[in-house]
Amino acid sequence: MNIILLGPPGAGKGTQARFLEEKRGMIQLSTGDMLRAAIKRGEPLGLEAKKLMDAGTLVPDSLMIQMIENRIAQPDCGKGFILDGFPRTVPQAEALDKMLAAKNKRLDAVIELEVDEAALIERVSGRYTCAKCGAGYHDKFKPTKVPGVCDACGNKEFTRRPDDNAETMKTRLKAFHEQTAPIIPYYQQKGLLHAIDGMADMDQVQASIEAILNKI
Ligand code: ADP
Ligand code: ADP
Ligand code: ZN
Repeated sequence: MNIILLGPPGAGKGTQARFLEEKRGMIQLSTGDMLRAAIKRGEPLGLEAKKLMDAGTLVPDSLMIQMIENRIAQPDCGKGFILDGFPRTVPQAEALDKMLAAKNKRLDAVIELEVDEAALIERVSGRYTCAKCGAGYHDKFKPTKVPGVCDACGNKEFTRRPDDNAETMKTRLKAFHEQTAPIIPYYQQKGLLHAIDGMADMDQVQASIEAILNKI
């Protein structure tokens, strides 16, 4: 099964993608994580993307489409993938349709996480990630069980994203409304869209997603 998790920054896409990886053995394809990995490795693509990401604006479609096309071609994606953060524009959605058709693959569902704007700012402001295994946490909503120690791997170093602040969030939310929201009717017309309440607890959101996927 191949799905898209769609929603504004901080909606819970990464959190839910990780649940699905554990529960269903699907593969999370996060374009944000791929870009941050390219920055860490000092790749030219990363350097180009970093300025845009730090400002909260989107990276050009051509780069993102190429990145996802290369990733989807890898054999592990045959287990089913979860797109997290892609597509973010109508041209990206159109390119995805073409590349999937060319590989005889298809999308089974697009799940939209609906979350209030004030909650999104609170969510990204408290977000932190294990520097070793990438497990995601939140100061208030999902702290580590032992303060300062990753539940999953025991590591003691964490990272916070430079773009996870109230100021940059304004630009990121604007980009979501202007450039990403138009893909919602795009998928609605294809009969693939399922909107769920992303304001609920993480476990409840997970249950809503499971209920949708179990019907497919
Ligand atoms: P969030 O999880 O908060 O929505 P991401 O980690 O998905 O954020 O993305 C971080 C940044 O990476 C975006 O603000 C944008 O600059 C860039 N980015 C990630 N995915 C895409 C994409 N599909 N198209 C364009 N830019 C992207
Ligand atoms: P996205 O990938 O959509 O940007 P994340 O999954 O990284 O969002 O979630 C953003 C932050 O909010 C993280 O710190 C995460 O722990 C927290 N979070 C995720 N889902 C919920 C939820 N349902 N309720 C409260 N906090 C949540
Ligand atoms: Zn860890």
